[in-house]
Amino acid sequence: RPQGTRFKRVLLKCSGEALMGDSGYGIDFPTVTRIAEEIAAVHSLGVEVCLVIGGGNIFRGLSGAARGMDRATADSMGMMATVMNALAVQHAIEEQGVETRVMSAIPMASLCEPYIRRRAHRHLEKRRVVIFAAGTGNPFFTTDTAAALRAAEMNCDALFKGTQVDGVYTSDPKTDPEATRFEQLSYLDVLSMDLKVMDASAISLARESDIPILVFSIGEAGQFSEIIRGGGRATVIGN
Ligand code: UDP
Repeated sequence: RPQGTRFKRVLLKCSGEALMGDSGYGIDFPTVTRIAEEIAAVHSLGVEVCLVIGGGNIFRGLSGAARGMDRATADSMGMMATVMNALAVQHAIEEQGVETRVMSAIPMASLCEPYIRRRAHRHLEKRRVVIFAAGTGNPFFTTDTAAALRAAEMNCDALFKGTQVDGVYTSDPKTDPEATRFEQLSYLDVLSMDLKVMDASAISLARESDIPILVFSIGEAGQFSEIIRGGGRATVIGN
């Protein structure tokens, strides 16, 4: 573990929505730059960082299916959306002077590398930020599940879930003034209370691999590195 930090290697899951800022759709570049700064700050502490980026700001398979598309085809479009986001985030992180690699679960050889587990390990050892794109490469999954999967494959010490609020609440704190925040939860609590943190397959996978999930606000500057250093605010999900 690098000095003054709690983790050696972490995976950050960032939803597509986190990239759209105040606009209701697409990629807001000032927002992407801000997130890239957070990532570069954690990287500069000596921590190895990899990322899974969602695609919900551009396209979700479920909404395509709701409009009559075949679900698997709509999900393919959703996975393509995550590649667009990954390239935007890659650009922004490299602007911070940090080397990156995008690895896609769906090979797109002229845009980025294909996902090869052992090669991804090597990139992380060489202190490159690895951005995993195209989710798991399979329809009917989400990028939350992809995040838990890659975190397990990369032997990460923690899975960070960046959200718009500073942890898991009893209900949506943006609409319910009575909502209270959890300091800690077990994986089983999250599943049995059906808390909207990550989908059930992601929680189960993290549980099986014994990887703690830290839910925190990616919208609040400095939180990511604060938590890495042992402070900050997050809900910790573990056994
Ligand atoms: N997707 C998929 N398989 C995966 C990951 C994602 O088919 O392994 C598709 C799915 O259609 C999903 C879309 O990609 O709706 C975008 O991902 P997600 O909804 O997880 O993005 P987020 O909500 O994190 O922005």
